[in-house]
Amino acid sequence: MSKVSYQQYFDYIGELFVQEDEVLREIRAENDRQGLPAIGVMPYDGYLLGWLTRLIKAKTAVELGTLGGYSGTWIARHLPEDGHLYTLELEPHHAAVAQANFARAGLTDKVTLIHGPALENLTTLVEKGPFDLVFIDADKTHYPDYLTWAVENLRPGGLVAAHNAFRRGGAIEPKLEGDEELQVFNQMLAADPRLDSMIIPLGDGMAVGVKRG
Ligand code: SAH
Ligand code: MG
Repeated sequence: MSKVSYQQYFDYIGELFVQEDEVLREIRAENDRQGLPAIGVMPYDGYLLGWLTRLIKAKTAVELGTLGGYSGTWIARHLPEDGHLYTLELEPHHAAVAQANFARAGLTDKVTLIHGPALENLTTLVEKGPFDLVFIDADKTHYPDYLTWAVENLRPGGLVAAHNAFRRGGAIEPKLEGDEELQVFNQMLAADPRLDSMIIPLGDGMAVGVKRG
């Protein structure tokens, strides 16, 4: 058996594919300086999101859970000039840091940050849809509700992605608040006949589903 760890595989992928520019590095540094929790996606996850965005030629995207705007920057950069990202964040401080980071990245016109509980704001976002991409990365407790909304508001061929599909093992052995809802989410994703789904076992797991039809 090889002694190479999964983390080494992920780092290897990162070295091969991911070149963070000054802006992305600065966003991560600024999030640290502003005391945001270190729970954002890794650079290889960001790259994966950008790659998926290009792959399905997404134009209009929704993100649940902005934090400091790191993953949002990866997504928005890979939308076309006339594309748009709506990103939803509960915490005012996170939202303020993210707004400044989107400005830093030159993405102010391309990104709309919506402040408040995601579930409530999704109701009003419906009129901007249908969407090409929905990225779920907010509170795990509502992952099943977020998935229900995503499937209803994606165009055929659109893609839903969700970070932390493994939740460091919580998906298999629930421990933390939200782990059981995450299990339900993964089961819903796998069983929904409207979706063609998979968990990409990169990092903490990226669940993806493409809407059929
Ligand atoms: N996608 C980000 C990380 C998001 S971390 C990145 O990779 O850069 C999860 C975020 O979801 C936190 O900022 C948290 O404040 C936010 N959040 C938690 N509950 C929420 C809710 N009900 N509605 C909207 N955002 C929520
Ligand atoms: Mg996450």
